[in-house]
Amino acid sequence: MTMQKGTEPKEAGTAVFWDRAQAQFRATADLLDLDESCRHVLGKCRRVVEIACPIRMDDGVIRSFRGYRAQHSSHRGPFKGGIRYHPEVTKEEVMALAMLMTWKCAVVNVPFCGGKGGVACNPQQMTAHEIERLTRRYTKELMPIIGPETDIPAPDVNTNAQIMAWIQDTYAMEVRSSSLGVVTGKPISLGGSVGRHDATSRGCFFTCLKALGMSNLTPATARLVTQGFGNAGYHMCKLWSQAGGKVLAVSTSRGGIYNEQGLDIEAAKKHYSDQRSLLDFKGGDQITNAELLTLDCEVLCPAALEGAITEANAADVRARIVAEAANGPTTAEADLILQDKGVLVIPDILANAGGVSVSYFEWVQGLTNFFWKEADVHSRLQEIMEAAFDAVQEESKKRGVSMREGAMALAVSRVANAFATRGLWP
Ligand code: NAD
Repeated sequence: MTMQKGTEPKEAGTAVFWDRAQAQFRATADLLDLDESCRHVLGKCRRVVEIACPIRMDDGVIRSFRGYRAQHSSHRGPFKGGIRYHPEVTKEEVMALAMLMTWKCAVVNVPFCGGKGGVACNPQQMTAHEIERLTRRYTKELMPIIGPETDIPAPDVNTNAQIMAWIQDTYAMEVRSSSLGVVTGKPISLGGSVGRHDATSRGCFFTCLKALGMSNLTPATARLVTQGFGNAGYHMCKLWSQAGGKVLAVSTSRGGIYNEQGLDIEAAKKHYSDQRSLLDFKGGDQITNAELLTLDCEVLCPAALEGAITEANAADVRARIVAEAANGPTTAEADLILQDKGVLVIPDILANAGGVSVSYFEWVQGLTNFFWKEADVHSRLQEIMEAAFDAVQEESKKRGVSMREGAMALAVSRVANAFATRGLWP
């Protein structure tokens, strides 16, 4: 199995990320004039599980890794969200990401709410067998709270279809059923959906098409810069190139590459796969991640980790559009600076919601044992993303606020409505 390489420590404090998620919710609650009880319930995670995952390493030594699963709200459906393997995963980080997932599912109107999990580990320093043992132990520990009708994990940073297959297999062995619906982002051979591998980027691409259209631009007349060259970043670049657009720069945690004439994305991908880095790539000049974020371009797509665009660099961003393929890449302070500069930010809960939308399709296919054609997946995704983009635009215009605030208002009001309609038990 090939694991993603090259992840380095994150810059943003994860406790700050959780504070930011809560502050964003409070601001939206004020905008919507939500009552106290609703604020009280939706402002917290319903459940956060912290577990030890001891495993035997290949050298025989036993090591214990810290794992988490946060479940924010289940008012609109089962919990849904990715699992991240990263040395700096924390409880606060998964809580923030779980809350974001609730709003994201509501923006695209899929019947899920937010969950997120992670294990603090460095998969670059682990063998495939160690990662498998860790995944199975983590799954076993989560057995009481995950399941096709309760909480459905998916891939995120440093996790992939193979890891989902191990989760599904472990769960299926324990409950003695095929359990196709317990994870999404599975391999096609195990009931995964065609079109899931690039769904996050395809959804982001569709929102970019809408945003570009507002200025009479298309990918062919707009230059893209992408931070992060993993699942989200690479497929975004690929779709852009396929649409005849120029991708000026891409990066990984170890730095990036830049070519004013446009990069050969497949060559860069091959180099990254072979070398586990973009260093020494011949088709472009080396640049730092800091330089990349301030390049002259029409669309900047942060597709790595949270906290990439901050107070320190937002004023220097030269893109017209920031399409947040990553979760939480722009800090609140940076958001205000971008707004003042007139940069259109397509917020994460809209821009990267294509992943969870096709996860929803995969879940439906698994539950019904009826599998769709790729063209159907793409067209239904496009329909969802365009409708969500229009609904967010309308909400933003109606309230005279940014797209992020409009998306939050739309999402929180949908969840609050579900909360009020369900009432409380007992
Ligand atoms: P991935 O592990 O496949 O790729 C992450 C990429 O980011 C790698 O190329 C890595 O080198 C790079 N990176 C890490 N730290 C960096 C840094 N400091 N500077 C520059 N690059 C850095 O992960 P992914 O699945 O592509 O996820 C990326 C982002 O997209 C995350 O925020 C994730 O939550 C979000 N997201 C992913 C999905 C999905 O379906 N994969 C869905 C929604 C949101």
